Amino acid sequence: MSDTVTRPSQEMLEAMIAAEVGDDVLGTDPTVASLEQRVARMFDKEAAVFCPSGTMTNQIAIKCHTHALDEMICDIDSHVYRYETAGFAYNSGISVALIHGNYGKITAEQIKQKIQPTHDWLPHSSLVVLENTCNKGGGGYYTLSEIEPIKNLCQQEGLALHLDGARLFNALEETKESPAEIGALFDSISICMSKGLGAPVGSLLLGKKEFIRKARRFRKVLGGGMRQAGYLAAACHYALDNNVKRLSIDHERAKLMADALKNLPFITSINPVYTNIIIFHLEQHILASSFIEVLKEKGILASPFGPHSVRFVTHLDITESQFNHVIEVLNGPFPH
Ligand SMILES: *Cc1c(COP(=O)(O)O)cnc(C)c1O
Repeated sequence: MSDTVTRPSQEMLEAMIAAEVGDDVLGTDPTVASLEQRVARMFDKEAAVFCPSGTMTNQIAIKCHTHALDEMICDIDSHVYRYETAGFAYNSGISVALIHGNYGKITAEQIKQKIQPTHDWLPHSSLVVLENTCNKGGGGYYTLSEIEPIKNLCQQEGLALHLDGARLFNALEETKESPAEIGALFDSISICMSKGLGAPVGSLLLGKKEFIRKARRFRKVLGGGMRQAGYLAAACHYALDNNVKRLSIDHERAKLMADALKNLPFITSINPVYTNIIIFHLEQHILASSFIEVLKEKGILASPFGPHSVRFVTHLDITESQFNHVIEVLNGPFPH
């Protein structure tokens, strides 16, 4: 299970077909423009740029905030470090200072210790990246009061602060904080529409006008300028209209799933469940890869998260009966 496997519903497809489109490379696609304005306004940022993926929005942000020979600071399990094919080094020519956070969350104190003194032989610390929710950390989220000291430190030290908010709406669903409040704490924010919100494609990068103007140039050089992208933006509009509030269902189910997993003899522990991600650990003699193979034969998709660790993610395409099927299978005779 991953929340990236969702397919557009009939209603979403209809919204896509009905979209008014232009050529977004020429800046004349009204549906892309209205999506960018809508999300920028929601998070109280000046502007936004629509991109094909969250990897691209993160990579563009890193590129805009840094120069070659700089260093970014992030958690060791963060997406920008682990899952973007070392793009920070390839695209931006920078180094990375890694923090062993608490399930993916890092603190101002930890960041402070990673800021390099100024010497010719050291990289220049210029960027901090937070992830909210933390994917590898099991979907944990930051509250505003946890981010504020980090924002203050970055301001004092002249570091940019970027948020990888691939699942930011999942975090906001739990904290009940407003998008504008979180927007005020970051120089840039990346948000995925193709995770729990269920759009087929699309991420947005938000920031100041000048930052986004620069971001558009890097989007182009990365090959991310899309022509009639309004069809995709229409799906994102639909997702924002219909699929934000229902995230609470995914969170509820994740907690129910964790409760069901607790009683299984072959599971040694389950990470705390905060949003829509469940990470659990199998007994040493069971390989995650073979466990996942068995689940797959029964129509259940999961991801390996280490040699004996597995990730489940709840999402909007899972029906009540499919959810119950997962619990039944796990409780049934299981070869292990
Ligand atoms: C999914 C994800 C991204 C972006 O992934 P794409 O597949 O490139 O859209 C970025 N950060 C996190 C934390 C993610 O989970």
